[in-house]
Amino acid sequence: MPTPHSSNNKNYFVSLEEAKNLSKTIKIPIFEEKLTIQDTHNRVLVNDIYSKINDPPFDNSSMDGYALIYSDTINATQSNPIELQIIETLPAGEESNKKLTSGFAIKIMTGAPIPSGADSIIMIEKTKQIGDKVLIYNPSYPNYIRKKGENLSKNQLILEKGTHISPREIGLLATMGYSEVSVIKQLKISIISTGDELIPPGQELLPGQIYESNSYVLEGLIKEMGHFPIRHASVTDSIDNLRMELDKASEHSDLIITSGGVSMGDFDLVRKIMEEEGDILFWRIKIKPGSPPLFGKWNNTPIFGLPGNPVSSHVVFQILINPWLRYITNTKGPPLKTIKVKLLENIKGTKDSVTLRRIVIENNGSEMVAYTKTHQGSGNLHSMIVANALTMLPPGKSGKKNETIDALLF
Ligand code: AMP
Ligand code: MG
Repeated sequence: MPTPHSSNNKNYFVSLEEAKNLSKTIKIPIFEEKLTIQDTHNRVLVNDIYSKINDPPFDNSSMDGYALIYSDTINATQSNPIELQIIETLPAGEESNKKLTSGFAIKIMTGAPIPSGADSIIMIEKTKQIGDKVLIYNPSYPNYIRKKGENLSKNQLILEKGTHISPREIGLLATMGYSEVSVIKQLKISIISTGDELIPPGQELLPGQIYESNSYVLEGLIKEMGHFPIRHASVTDSIDNLRMELDKASEHSDLIITSGGVSMGDFDLVRKIMEEEGDILFWRIKIKPGSPPLFGKWNNTPIFGLPGNPVSSHVVFQILINPWLRYITNTKGPPLKTIKVKLLENIKGTKDSVTLRRIVIENNGSEMVAYTKTHQGSGNLHSMIVANALTMLPPGKSGKKNETIDALLF
């Protein structure tokens, strides 16, 4: 039986940094699997990836036009064009077996290998074709040749292990000739929302009820990080139901995330059951909004208890669970970007806590400026749509108009 923690435990009401550091002391085993590249979206590379090829693999034309010899065109003018004999038309995917000599041109399409003897491409728009002749009206400097290996060299380190794979990386893996790669195996993450008042969207609201939304947000955030969410139906505020659901979740998942029931109310039973039957590593963080999160273990499975307020649960996932997941999986991304912004208004901070106000960041033409737009209640999920960032005001600090502060983009 784990030891119950008392509210004067030293890990109660910790700073954000302390919470992040403490959370790193709980780890879970991480495995890898091989996947075909089309299945790797949002997953994380386990190995450094070296290019199997030079990209491009051969010199090729970057234009539809004519391959020719520059010195043939040196005296070409609008009134006195040079005439060259077209000896071949070369599509992409084919190689010419002819050697180009002075007085001749090969019509060439974008991507086709440069014929031997040619040192320049002139784009089609600058020429006029008459039968099997082409007129050139200006000197064709050695242009429009994409050189072998100018993008990637064979055996060059291109993607580092820990890279979060987006469609761009998938494209690059294909470019380099990889059909499959090893990635981190998805963590199974149970999401349990709690509250008597919650019903799923789609049903009719009875007095006192609201639609449950946190589990949907969390599901998306987990997927974005490449893991596997298991969304449970929400649990009513009953210790027995909660215990049953936590037991079930701990059996089939690597991590449990709950929402609701972690603050000071009479029915905040996630906190209560964790205090009495679970193992709490920390409870309450000096952030506003979102101060009541807890982290610990239930039956040896790590568990984050998020606050129920929709803004808080979203924000705490991003500033606490996202870094933890990236830490335990050695992932470099997706990073939450911090940028400097100039405030267009005063923003009040809090004495003890990091203040996370939702702000709109815009480029005013010369710099990034920020302002609040909606009311900041932590129940107002719409404010997360209208805004695009959070202030990161350190404890005891208010933001003054025209001051530059750190903001976290989301
Ligand atoms: P709690 O943390 O349980 O005290 O909940 C704080 C507030 O968030 C209450 O107004 C709840 O109704 C609301 N809330 C809790 N869980 C959810 C949820 N899953 N979806 C939407 N709102 C929620
Ligand atoms: Mg509740």
